[in-house]
This record gives sequence, structure tokens and C-alpha cells, in this order.
Amino acid sequence: MTIIHSVTGNVDSSELGLTLIHEHMRVRSESVFAQFPHLYDEEKEFARAVQQVNKVKQLGVKTICDPTVMELGRDISFIERVARETGVQIIAATGIYTYHYIPPHFQNRDVDYMADLFVRDIEVGIQNTSIKAGFLKCAADAQGITPDVEKVIRAAARAHNQTGVPIMTHSYPGSRNGLKQLDILLEEGVNPERILIGHTGDTDNLEYILKVLDRGAFIGMDRYGLTSECSTENRNTTVIELAKQGYANRLFLSQDHCCTIDWFPEGAAEQMYPKWSMSFVLEEVIPELLRNGVTEEQIQMMMVENARRWFEGK
Ligand SMILES: [Zn+2]
Repeated sequence: MTIIHSVTGNVDSSELGLTLIHEHMRVRSESVFAQFPHLYDEEKEFARAVQQVNKVKQLGVKTICDPTVMELGRDISFIERVARETGVQIIAATGIYTYHYIPPHFQNRDVDYMADLFVRDIEVGIQNTSIKAGFLKCAADAQGITPDVEKVIRAAARAHNQTGVPIMTHSYPGSRNGLKQLDILLEEGVNPERILIGHTGDTDNLEYILKVLDRGAFIGMDRYGLTSECSTENRNTTVIELAKQGYANRLFLSQDHCCTIDWFPEGAAEQMYPKWSMSFVLEEVIPELLRNGVTEEQIQMMMVENARRWFEGK
């Protein structure tokens, strides 16, 4: 049993239930929002998030992990409002989402200064509230492990070492950098069983995926519906094969859905990714996996048990 901070209060790890491990209530380019707030419609965004979360609640989801952190426009009051309106447990994150750069504020200070801020989010509260983060998030993308990116990964590791909350990454399997993230996290002393290498399902290269798994980490097959890096069919083929090889206890299925995302003009994401929603995995992917040899027990492992194990560390 482990106590987990949700945005509406503490949850026992045995109470997570059906969990979506990686979904965003809202993603904003935070500097754009700070300077041009007239572009945004808070109530429309709230309604969209509530609609998606209520939909998956009807399908049995009890918990959503929302890894929206600094540079994705994290607004903890917005997430809390969605959780209160829907009754779904939402677990928020701390960390920094960057592919290559951190602001001068952090460039001119050391790793431990950044780690202390993450620890404060976990132990005191986020954005001057008493709402605490439940896990850590860091990222690396096609730009690789730049010095700034490495600083965030090390800070996440050190905040984990102080608080015990698990770590989720955004990785870019195209350059196999999940392995580099693991190198740094393990060097800082993190147990691989507390690490989730996110977006590993963006490749169907089993040789790479098995290397990540053999290091002992969880992996995210967590971008269902986003078809530019990998099709749904290829994502499924990988999950079916990994389940067959006995790895269902290390996989998470999710969509990385953003109920609102301002990175694209209005309507563009829906046009590019017509299947991308918070309910795609439950409505279409899981039935397809079950038709192809994945067992109910393995689904239970991927959708319920693995979240508990990642938070508990056992
Ligand atoms: Zn994400």
C-alpha cells in the first residue's frame, strides 16, 4: 500500500482501478497563453475535458495520470476542476517538458535547485495550492540529450530519490533515446522499476523495445490514435508480440490525448488523427487485442495492476 497524491486528495495505491497512464486535460504553449490570453476560451476547454473524462468514466476508468508539466501550460486548478466535476481521480505531475532548452532561470542554477522545486510540488503543493504532484516527468526528443535536457532528467531522478514518486519520460524511439534516459536515471540511483519510458510504442522495432524492457523499465504503448510515427495496426502487432513473450507486466496502454492542444490551428489535430481520443484504447484497441490472443488477465495487468506496481515500486 502506497499513498498517492491525486489532485482531489490522497488515494491508496490499491484504489487506482482502471487507469489511463498518459492523457492531458489541456496542453497550451504557456508563453503564448501568458502574452495573448484572448486566444483562449477557458470554458470551452473545460467542457471538452469534462466530455472526454466522463466518456472514459462510463467505460470504467477510475484514474487518469496527467503528465502536463512546465512548458505544456500546466494549470493545476484547471485539472482539479475537471476531477471535481467528473469524480475521476486525476494524478498530476511535476517536471519540465523540453526537447532542447530550459529558461535562463534554470540554466544559471544547478540541478539540485531544480530538483528542490520538483520536491516542493510533491511535498508542499503546485502553483501556490496544496495540490501535490504524484509523479515526475522529463523528456527527450529528436534533438537528443542536450545539456539542458540532461539537467531536467537528473533533477527528476534526484527528486525521485527524495520523495519516492515514480518517473515518466517522453522519449523519441526514432533515435533510441529511451536507453539514454535510462542510463542517466540509473546513474543517479533510480530503480528501473520506478521508471516508465513513455512513447516507446512510437516504434515497432522490437530489438530496441526489448533492450529497454531488459533494463527493467516499464514502457508506454501510450500514443494510440497518433498515427504519424506508427499506425494502430503496427502498435497492436507490437503489443500482441510482447504480451506473447511475457511482457504484459511492463506495458501501459494509453493515448496521450490532449482534450485541447494549441499547437495546431483549431480542428487540425482532429483532421490529422480522426481516432485520437481518450476512449480509443478502451473502445477499439482492447477488443482487437483480445481477438488476437491477448488475454483478459494481460489486459488487467496493463490497465490496472501495472499502475499500482509503478507507484508502489513492487
Ligand atoms: Zn503527453
